[in-house]
Amino acid sequence: MGKKFVFDLDNTLYPPSAGLWEIIDGRIEQYVSIALNVDRDTARNVRKGFLKIHGTTLKGLMLNHSVDPGDYLAYVHNVDIERMIQKDGELLAMFNSLPYQKYVFTNASHDYALRVLASLGIEQCFEEVLDIQFMDYLAKPGVYPFRKLISYLGVAPGSIVFFDDIEENIITAKKLGITSILISPNGNKAGADVVIDSVKKIPSILDDIVKGEVDLYDK
Ligand SMILES: [Mg+2]
Repeated sequence: MGKKFVFDLDNTLYPPSAGLWEIIDGRIEQYVSIALNVDRDTARNVRKGFLKIHGTTLKGLMLNHSVDPGDYLAYVHNVDIERMIQKDGELLAMFNSLPYQKYVFTNASHDYALRVLASLGIEQCFEEVLDIQFMDYLAKPGVYPFRKLISYLGVAPGSIVFFDDIEENIITAKKLGITSILISPNGNKAGADVVIDSVKKIPSILDDIVKGEVDLYDK
């Protein structure tokens, strides 16, 4: 049975050095500050609490402050993506060389994900974008979206290869039996099967991934 490759979006399909995620992070804090009418320091603390209890800022805002998710997502993703992310021919060629169905699995909104993919020039490489709405707003690293992903893809967890830059997401995926690759420029493996510093390195680990022979080593 063919493997299905599942990719996080932010800081996975483009590097953290693009600076896009930092800006969104700042806008999330700004949104909390405006929505709750508190200063930025308080907003930062409220957000930390939400992340700990609910997994995402959005879920905390929805449950505690009746925030409309569409309003929140439009605000935080209102960034000049096209200026910050450029077409990447090398990335496109790499994805085109992978003969597996590919999906994007992101805590972000659908529109935003499509804009990032289009800016990178890789939007046609993916079967589908599975976004925060697909997750019923119960974001990674919770177990729920991963279970939904497995059932949606209709394959055994062992047939899914998952790529993400956040260790907590990798740890949840691993617990469910998904082959999990951490994309980390620092090379810290954490709980991942393999760590690579960029998705562009996938070809170098492909044989191991596909044979299901990923050992606990770094590449
Ligand atoms: Mg990410």
